Amino acid sequence: MTDPCRPDDADQRPRIGDWKGYGDLADLQDARLAATVAAAARSPFYQRRDGGRLPADRAGLHALALTTKQHLRQAYPFGMLAVDRSRLATYHESSGSGGTPTASYYTETDWADLAERYARKWVGIYPSDTFLVRTPYALMITGHLAQAAARLHGATVVPGDNRTLAMPYSRVVRVLRDLAVTLTWSLPTDTLLWAAAAEAAGHRPDQDFPALRALFVGGEPLSAARRDRIARIWNARVVEEYGATETGSLAGECPYGRLHLWADRNIFEVHDPRSGRTTGHGRGQLVVTPLYREAMPLLRYNIEDDVEVAYEPCECDWWLPTVRVLGRSGFVCRTGAVEITQLGVEELVFGLPAGYGVMFWRARLVGELLRIEIEARERYREAAADELVAAVRRRYGLDAEVSARAPGELVPHALLTAGGDVLKPRGLYGPDEDWDKALQYY
Ligand SMILES: [Zn+2]
Repeated sequence: MTDPCRPDDADQRPRIGDWKGYGDLADLQDARLAATVAAAARSPFYQRRDGGRLPADRAGLHALALTTKQHLRQAYPFGMLAVDRSRLATYHESSGSGGTPTASYYTETDWADLAERYARKWVGIYPSDTFLVRTPYALMITGHLAQAAARLHGATVVPGDNRTLAMPYSRVVRVLRDLAVTLTWSLPTDTLLWAAAAEAAGHRPDQDFPALRALFVGGEPLSAARRDRIARIWNARVVEEYGATETGSLAGECPYGRLHLWADRNIFEVHDPRSGRTTGHGRGQLVVTPLYREAMPLLRYNIEDDVEVAYEPCECDWWLPTVRVLGRSGFVCRTGAVEITQLGVEELVFGLPAGYGVMFWRARLVGELLRIEIEARERYREAAADELVAAVRRRYGLDAEVSARAPGELVPHALLTAGGDVLKPRGLYGPDEDWDKALQYY
């Protein structure tokens, strides 16, 4: 018997292939809008806003004011809760810096949608897979998302949170090898740290991990050059994922390497903060209206990520808009009319030949000089520095000072080789033991 308090939307949620064109896609969205608005009508936040007036159709939705991160912070913790609290499955907070947190919460029904969306990558997840989840489990959604998707498809999950002392890089390398891990989920940078740790342990990342077939990555801007380098270093596919704790997965990659927005499960818009205009495509901040969400409905939520959305044909026939994630606005430096982005510098660094062994870098703008430090193999250090200076001049018309250092000078060798012994709290000590460690169990 169906429990009226636990509506199961599984049969209503669209699957890729259910629509054959952007017109069909818009029809799917329109058909779901009434249920989305009905869910929002149960949210205290939307009940209060505009005297509880909610849109009846798409034109009404587009006329509604955007929901902002500030609104979410003001609604902390449960001001957006649209179901009985006993129905919540998980509670999360975004990785903001200080201040009032941004809360997100999901029911089991919400979780079914979340897990399906994350698992939609063209590199499938199968029961034969061993999946290392290497993003945080604490408060954020990311680790739980990958875990739920892997479990949905019967894979074996290895929970390897990257924010814990229990899982240092040396242990990641051991797990990748000993367990013959086939899939991983992490920040792109993490895969480079594993590679350096694997080399420090005497392994060749491209040869000694033959089971590894794909690295799922997200959470950071990733240039094509760095992505190609990661794939080459590990001899595995790199598959990009894009999402947020407030929404779950928003886009995934098709077999043709394009990142497609899950527009059958969400309505997407693009907001230009300068003009205040919001359109269906183009460049600006991504605005999302999740269509299958009950615990915390959101109407026109501005994620504030700088993106470019396009509706163009793709060989995959998914009929979903493509998105280019241009990074979060914080990663930009300016001098005069020149705008330098993390992604732009990364592209130049990873444009250096693979043989130079450059995996780690940092840069800062000092006046009109771009100061860059990289780690490179000894015999290529001079060439790497010269070529990077020339590349910066070509790209930005700026002078650069590049210091090519020995491996271990930016990312310490000890970080890559340290073991991880997690202590338990302890009060009683022997006569020769250091009891200053009492209760310090991290
Ligand atoms: Zn495609």
